[in-house]
Amino acid sequence: MPWIKTELRRRAQARLAAPAPFRRVEVRRNRALGPRFRRVTIGGAELAGFPGGELPADAVKLFLPLPGQSTVTLPTRTPDGRLQYPTGDRRPDARAYTVRRFDPHALELDVDVVMHGASTSTRWASAAQPGDELALTGPRHDFYASPEVDHHLVVGDETALPAIATILEHLPAQTQVTAVVEVDQAAEELPLRTAPGTRVYWVHRGGKAPGSTDLLLRTVRDLDWPAGEVQAWVGAETGVARAVRSLLRERGVRPECQQVSGYWRRGLSSAELDELALRRYRRAQATGEEIDDLAPEDDAA
Ligand SMILES: Cc1cc2nc3c(=O)[nH]c(=O)nc-3n(C[C@H](O)[C@H](O)[C@H](O)COP(=O)(O)OP(=O)(O)OC[C@H]3O[C@@H](n4cnc5c(N)ncnc54)[C@H](O)[C@@H]3O)c2cc1C
Repeated sequence: MPWIKTELRRRAQARLAAPAPFRRVEVRRNRALGPRFRRVTIGGAELAGFPGGELPADAVKLFLPLPGQSTVTLPTRTPDGRLQYPTGDRRPDARAYTVRRFDPHALELDVDVVMHGASTSTRWASAAQPGDELALTGPRHDFYASPEVDHHLVVGDETALPAIATILEHLPAQTQVTAVVEVDQAAEELPLRTAPGTRVYWVHRGGKAPGSTDLLLRTVRDLDWPAGEVQAWVGAETGVARAVRSLLRERGVRPECQQVSGYWRRGLSSAELDELALRRYRRAQATGEEIDDLAPEDDAA
């Protein structure tokens, strides 16, 4: 039976061999979920055949129209898998969001967007109206429950809250799960499924900048460490995720049982992160080295 890392790697390779299509969709609904979250429902006929719902924490790449434009210019794929845009056209803004819910009958999916500062996604989610066009591709898989493990540890900040919600809903009720979730304040907590085997710890930043504290790290460090084989899933700011990964190593969680992702990086936009990921991918292809998405040496690149 595969571990999470092995299974997600296998699925990622399959995705490279047969890339997901681009789907033109539109905004159906948009509502506030809490002080800093908006739920945007996206739908359209091109969601027919969208392979969502099998695994939790699946994420799509949204292609958002540029300011002042109402349609999205989509890239084509070159034979070696690169994205190519028509000359002269500016690229749409591409952002990763978790599929919080997919309804294959209504051909709709929900994304829950954290509103922060004056960013592209914040601007889009605060203004999105029914009928607004966008596009998406994916999903990328981010979670797999290995049947070999005794306990699931699930850790993240508010950007990972939609993923954590789907993970808790997916795991059988008797599964032993510890979830640690950071939000700014109690009013930002969202309902999570409760079950006999699930313990949820909320931690509050209390006005400190997102990604600037060691709250998640300290809370995980102070847990009564679960017995047996632990599978750990982390989605948070990259520096925070890296620190939690070091702790997981200290605690003896085997690397194949860890899925630790930087969901965003302080000071870098998604476009800059995508550039970084492409450089790493090319370097790995040239040298044969393993790709480490959390590697600190590229921080200033
Ligand atoms: C697989 C995956 C799934 C994700 N799922 C979700 C999801 O369901 N909901 C969600 O809200 N996010 C999710 N994210 C994170 C989201 O993609 C990033 O936060 C993204 O940067 C948002 O784009 P933006 O246009 O708001 O900001 P960008 O233009 O990318 O960045 C602008 C600036 O804002 C900073 N920044 C980015 N995000 C935050 C934040 N949350 N708080 C404070 N500063 C920030 C950046 O460091 C940068 O300085 C996911 C990321 C990944 C990789």
